[in-house]
Amino acid sequence: MPIFGPDGEVEAVAGTTRDVTDRKAAEDFLRESDRRKDEFLALLAHELRNPLAPLRNGLQVVRMSQDQSVRERSQEMMERQLGHMVRLVDDLLDISRVSRNKMDLRMSRIVLSEVIRSAVETARPAIDAAGHHLDVALPREAVYLNADLIRLAQVFSNLLTNSAKYTERGGRIQIAAKTQDGMVSILVQDNGIGIPANSLKTIFDMFSQVDRSIERATGGLGIGLALVKGLVEMHGGTVEAHSPGPGRGSTFTVRLPIMERMPESTLARPTATEERPQVVIRRILVVDDNRDGAESLAEMLRLLGHDVEIAHDGIEGVRKAEEYRPEIVLMDVGMPRLNGLDATRRIREQLWGRFLTIIALTGWGQDADRALSKAAGCDGHLVKPVNLTELAKILKEPVKQGFHNANK
Ligand code: ADP
Repeated sequence: MPIFGPDGEVEAVAGTTRDVTDRKAAEDFLRESDRRKDEFLALLAHELRNPLAPLRNGLQVVRMSQDQSVRERSQEMMERQLGHMVRLVDDLLDISRVSRNKMDLRMSRIVLSEVIRSAVETARPAIDAAGHHLDVALPREAVYLNADLIRLAQVFSNLLTNSAKYTERGGRIQIAAKTQDGMVSILVQDNGIGIPANSLKTIFDMFSQVDRSIERATGGLGIGLALVKGLVEMHGGTVEAHSPGPGRGSTFTVRLPIMERMPESTLARPTATEERPQVVIRRILVVDDNRDGAESLAEMLRLLGHDVEIAHDGIEGVRKAEEYRPEIVLMDVGMPRLNGLDATRRIREQLWGRFLTIIALTGWGQDADRALSKAAGCDGHLVKPVNLTELAKILKEPVKQGFHNANK
């Protein structure tokens, strides 16, 4: 059979043209992704830098002012700005986990009202600061979900915070839920700036923003809605955006499968409730190569009344643990010379080291990371930045049996 007949030639030419077109499309795609990446980096730098100026000013005010109320106001402002920065960085880490399928959900039977309560609590400062009015309308009957309470609350706090951001001062925001055919629909509605019809389709894409000008009034990286969509889908649900057009408000509808009714006793208790830290005095060794991180944590623990020593790498950590004989070691994981996990192993090899409580302190909080620290001999695993309530809970727990006698 001839390979190149007249028809074959036509086909070959068509194939070459298709190749060229495909290559051109691929190049355009790469160029466009590259442009979006550059734009995103500029935006990221801008958004991360924004809170730094008020933080620096706040520090100067605290240093210079003798007036207690001025100092307190300044501290509150710094906490707010720092919180904003922590949220940005957390969102970035979360979206990268969702897109690499590395996000672990802690599913349990939870009640929808708990999710909404927690989300409202998070979004409340933004809503109040903009003078908006918020209505919450939930079904009278409890709605049960098989979900990760914290992650689902993050979905609704993101949507509520967006409503607060994209609505003129003094607006109305509503969050309402209704059940139908084994599903619950939760609507987050505002009377804000609305969304143009041509943006509705892309709004859940990563880095998608209707107004990408760097001068726009509201901060953000354009990843909040991508995160919302990823998290909702991981819960077996869907999310849609509706808007009658610019200036006419927006509605985001999240649909989730409902679980059958369960007795109260099997419900997960909310984990986010703040407890008043109750202090038992402890001897604590903080091991961290980040000097400011170690100093500030130690200072905080001392203010709570504890006795604290510091080490700056794994080797020094093992030596100080032997000399100082702490009850608790807060061990950073990534450190030069000897990392925290190896330092923990060395401590555990010693007779005096078997009864210490060692808590890994790290930026990595996936199940696999927790398994690694457990395997190295850690008794707990806290993710930085450390939540003071969580830490206080650990410090309150009884030290290991026989610790005092075995060590002294
Ligand atoms: P960010 O708010 O950081 O820009 P998001 O992913 O949360 O990123 O939102 C993407 C874009 O969707 C926003 O930039 C904004 O243009 C638009 N948007 C989100 N929520 C609303 C809302 N409630 N009303 C109007 N526009 C919104």
